[in-house]
Amino acid sequence: MNCFECQIDSGRISTAAGICSACGAAVCVEHATMDAVQVEVTSVGNPSVQLLPGRLLHCSTCHAAIGRADAGGRAGVLTAA
Ligand SMILES: [Zn+2]
Ligand SMILES: [Zn+2]
Repeated sequence: MNCFECQIDSGRISTAAGICSACGAAVCVEHATMDAVQVEVTSVGNPSVQLLPGRLLHCSTCHAAIGRADAGGRAGVLTAA
């Protein structure tokens, strides 16, 4: 399977390394991003965020879209450092 992002960006054919968990596109290592599932943990006076173990792979397009939504505070994923 080939990377969808490489083909639409530059017409280049690159072997895919994974599948975007949001849109299902095959992506190469260059276009894949690792995110983490974020869960809001609320207790009285101490709201916090917990990152669940494991990984969530996204293509660069979905990663950018989620980042914009995350800035508004409603997305369920966060970029892992
Ligand atoms: Zn690619
Ligand atoms: Zn995607």
